[in-house]
Amino acid sequence: MTQEIDFAGARGYAIPMRARFRGITVREGMLLEGPAGWGEFCPFTDYDDATSAAWLATAVEQCTVGWPEPVREAVPVNCTVPAVGPERAHGIVADSGCRTAKVKVADHPDSLPEDLARVEAVRDALGPGGAVRVDANAVWDVDTAVSHIRELDRAAGGLEYVEQPCRTVEELAAVRRRVDLRIAADESIRRAEDPLRVAVAGAADVAVIKCTPLGGVRRSLEVAEAAGLP
Ligand SMILES: [Mg+2]
Repeated sequence: MTQEIDFAGARGYAIPMRARFRGITVREGMLLEGPAGWGEFCPFTDYDDATSAAWLATAVEQCTVGWPEPVREAVPVNCTVPAVGPERAHGIVADSGCRTAKVKVADHPDSLPEDLARVEAVRDALGPGGAVRVDANAVWDVDTAVSHIRELDRAAGGLEYVEQPCRTVEELAAVRRRVDLRIAADESIRRAEDPLRVAVAGAADVAVIKCTPLGGVRRSLEVAEAAGLP
């Protein structure tokens, strides 16, 4: 399959960004052309080879066989609110037009007051009909997760779900038993040694499936089915 890709004709790009993200200000990547068109390969520069290989597999699928048939015609999306102040958070949500916002929290050890102000501002921008999710990116221990989630749920006027509050599947399960809120697994799935075998049932209510880190759309569909969660 790969011999059909025009590696010699690959085109690199470097695009300046309007806001710093993951510590970078220029986004770099490579476009590969194959029988199905262009594929985009853009791992972050701090990734190791194994992580980057999944990103390359996605680009190869894209430019050699293309995407499988769509299973739906429209997909509602959320806007993502990074660890910014409340005014900026309000603006991001209002400008997005989205009815659901995913808010990054737990950006640093004493972030709770800032996190609370951020989710309050997001709720204010969305109004009562919108949905607020928070993503802690696996940094809390179980007790911290439970107390912070309760406070964030109050400040948000109700959370839709909490994404990856802690690192391990066992910790997710422990948090899930102690709070009356849905828990989503993200890193637990995409960083698992074998995403097809990771047992998140019982530890999470929602599976966050990311195509590029998992190695393509077909692979992601398999992982979604194996996870057995919405
Ligand atoms: Mg996440």
